[in-house]
Amino acid sequence: MSTNTNLDVPEFELVSGLEIHVQLNTKSKIFSSDSASFGASGNEHISAVSLGLPGALPKLNKAVVEKAVRMGLALNCTINQLNYFDRKNYFYADLPKGYQITQDNEPICKNGYIDLTLSDGTERRIGINRIHLEEDAGKSMHDQDEQYSFVDLNRAGVPLIEIVTEPDIRSAEEASVLLTEMRKLVRHLNVSDGNMEEGSLRCDANISIREAGSTEFGTRCEVKNLNSIRNVRRAMDFEYIRQKELVLSGGAIVQSTLNFDAEQGTTSPMRTKEMANDYRYFPDPDLPPVSISDEWLLELKAGMPALPRAITEQLMKDLGVSLSDAVILAEDTDLLSFFNATLLDVKTPKSLVNWLVGPVRAMLNEKGILIKDINLTATQFAAVVNLVDDKKITQQVALQQLLPALMKGDGGNVFALAEEMNLLIEDNVDELSVFADQVLEKYAAQVQAYKKGKKGVLGLFVGEVIKLAKGKADPQKVSALLEEKLK
Ligand code: ADP
Ligand code: MG
Repeated sequence: MSTNTNLDVPEFELVSGLEIHVQLNTKSKIFSSDSASFGASGNEHISAVSLGLPGALPKLNKAVVEKAVRMGLALNCTINQLNYFDRKNYFYADLPKGYQITQDNEPICKNGYIDLTLSDGTERRIGINRIHLEEDAGKSMHDQDEQYSFVDLNRAGVPLIEIVTEPDIRSAEEASVLLTEMRKLVRHLNVSDGNMEEGSLRCDANISIREAGSTEFGTRCEVKNLNSIRNVRRAMDFEYIRQKELVLSGGAIVQSTLNFDAEQGTTSPMRTKEMANDYRYFPDPDLPPVSISDEWLLELKAGMPALPRAITEQLMKDLGVSLSDAVILAEDTDLLSFFNATLLDVKTPKSLVNWLVGPVRAMLNEKGILIKDINLTATQFAAVVNLVDDKKITQQVALQQLLPALMKGDGGNVFALAEEMNLLIEDNVDELSVFADQVLEKYAAQVQAYKKGKKGVLGLFVGEVIKLAKGKADPQKVSALLEEKLK
């Protein structure tokens, strides 16, 4: 017998599709040469085009098309080689032309997908309905002055792509993994800085519920302008409960557009379908259709970097790297390019991975710098890794002395420098044997413990001998030597 007393209460499933706006990191705006950079003072980056002055004509920035296509290819889309722009008409103070230039009928990319791995290991594929190009609007500021609202048009005409997913998302976790992947991808492809706080990545979440097992979609509500992954999750959690309670109490969901209140964690209606704008879309007569030739598309395909998921799989398959290490490398473009540059010169690729993912990354994080900014060539680094693998120098000495010296710019030849600094392991067995005897004498009590079975103290002896040898001893050899003596 089930203990569930609420057998009559249906279980509900969440259904969601996201509209993700990505601000492209081009130098200039989508239809003018105005700077597209963030953080300038008010209305610094404007011209006749951004202001929408009569007669000013838009001219498409080629870099925008390239970035959109790169994103489309990464999301397994069909590239629409003949696409065009539409006008979306509405009136607002931060939209000087009275329309936004966007793509409605023929977006630049269609019908793709993205694969996700959830935290429990489940694989999910989310369909991508389309990616379209558009310009951003300006920004109205209502909190700067008692009497007046201010308008900053720096953002007007900044290029965006909008990625629209199919309603394939079934939980807040899926949405959050999806957005995390998107952020990685836009950065990996150099399409956007992916910075959610600055608004470079923002999203609208369409949310509905349906009875578990149902194949029909429920009526959706669209929560606008979510500016963090956390808020997307919160909005979904809130809507799920709100819609479920409404349905259970006999009410009906009304299709509507909602605001999210980040302080309260609640949604509230902006407008219902009846109040929805009629945008009167039509093709923009000022812009010719965008034609992407076969040659250009081939060129863009050839220029695509390997994607993080594929790199992860390859590292695991070809080099036997663990999943967690492979993910770290695949997602860190800076570290990965250094890895690639070093790979051919190292004897054991696995050691290289261990070095980069472990101590090198720790050092970079501590200093808050990127590996490309440090004074160390791939060839030099490969030589260090090889010296350690060949037991010519211990890893500790390499890390604490050799690498810092190299980074200061001392010397080109790594072996010569190590020799000059007197860092090489000396295989002087007699000397090591003397050190070993000294240590065993000093730690007589621990030696007794060892002999009674407490084998763990061996590490202490090894460490002490290496100290006496000023780090220039191979731990394995020292350990073997000590074990021999302790028999
Ligand atoms: P519109 O053009 O009116 O915004 P679309 O069909 O383009 O409508 O859908 C917009 C977004 O809403 C897409 O991301 C889509 O996946 C999502 N969506 C559509 N129907 C539903 C639904 N019933 N529940 C949740 N999301 C939905
Ligand atoms: Mg929409």
